[in-house]
Amino acid sequence: MIPVNAYAAYQSKEPLKPYKFERRDPGPHDVQIDIHFCGVCHSDLHQVRDEWGGSKFPMVPGHEIVGKVISVGSSVKKFKAGDSVGVGCLVDSCRTCPSCGEGLEQYCENGSVGTYNSVEKDGVTVTQGGYSTQIVVNEDFVLKISPKLPLDKAAPLLCAGITTYSPLRHWKAGPGKKVAVMGLGGLGHMAVKLAAAMGAEVTVLSSSNKKKDDAHRLGAHNYAATSEQETFKKYNRSFDLIINTVSAPIDLGSHLQLLKRDGTMVLLGVPDKPEAIHAFPLIGGRRSLAGSLIGGIKETQEMLDFCAEHGITSDIELINIDKINESYERMLKGDVRYRFVIDIASLK
Ligand code: NAP
Ligand code: ZN
Ligand code: ZN
Repeated sequence: MIPVNAYAAYQSKEPLKPYKFERRDPGPHDVQIDIHFCGVCHSDLHQVRDEWGGSKFPMVPGHEIVGKVISVGSSVKKFKAGDSVGVGCLVDSCRTCPSCGEGLEQYCENGSVGTYNSVEKDGVTVTQGGYSTQIVVNEDFVLKISPKLPLDKAAPLLCAGITTYSPLRHWKAGPGKKVAVMGLGGLGHMAVKLAAAMGAEVTVLSSSNKKKDDAHRLGAHNYAATSEQETFKKYNRSFDLIINTVSAPIDLGSHLQLLKRDGTMVLLGVPDKPEAIHAFPLIGGRRSLAGSLIGGIKETQEMLDFCAEHGITSDIELINIDKINESYERMLKGDVRYRFVIDIASLK
């Protein structure tokens, strides 16, 4: 077994504290990874606070993991010691169901295994995430990171990047399409960069006017504050696609009115409480309300390669692990530009 240093939530809503545990020794198909950086996703906070129910403690969060390969199992062909690699939200799935067959492991019909707060296929071992010094992962769930991408700024691509890339591709964001991004946080700022790189016209819908300059710098063509009623008049029936990354419950109906006829709003944010919606904004424009969960392994590699080709990384604030609790508080206030990334050297 491999001893690792980590930070964990011992109980729901408690501050994270130092924690030591052991990783399995690498099996024939495993890759042992020295973690260099790990992004801080709002999903970490939701799960640490048990806002979705069923959280398992002690919990080591973190699913935006990048680092270098230390060793590989005897059957591993794709990776070797020293390679730059990443691990996102998934570490296993059944590999036999139709979704797995199509490379959509996130929708595994027999249940995929999350990087943390999940149970391995052995039915016993609880997974632990990237706020830790090492991780051991089956090679099929390890991603290659191009040397063109700086590791710290690439970490958030493993969740925020793929979670926005996948719906942008599925709903065909590109030239001639008007895409709005609701919420300019970790996911939102990646959605802006990716949609702009795909050639779409991008509008940021933020709760205030505070992030306007940033939005344009990130590549947005237009910006509007949803705190202003004028926004809902100006952009009435404007967008083909709305990528909704808001992490708190809001009035969806008024935002659905901003879609053109046949437009789609994709929910990415997962607030702790359900949101009520009336039928009228949907039927009055044959609009769709959809959802999307992260992305499969094949598409995650495609996204990483797209980012390397287009020079896309995340705007980050690098923190030491002892700032993690403070960073959660700041994330709750929307005070992050635009992703906290933990320097795992501070855990070693
Ligand atoms: P984040 O960095 O905290 O960004 C969320 C943004 O939502 C904030 O920056 C803020 O943007 C906006 N917002 C927050 N509270 C709001 C409120 N009360 N009213 C209006 N806007 C508000 O979070 P994130 O890491 O991007 O994650 C966003 C959500 O996506 C979370 O719920 C997370 O769990 C979920 N998520 C889902 C998936 C998936 O697979 N579907 C994957 C990862 C994360 P403005 O300041 O611009 O208003
Ligand atoms: Zn995430
Ligand atoms: Zn499956």
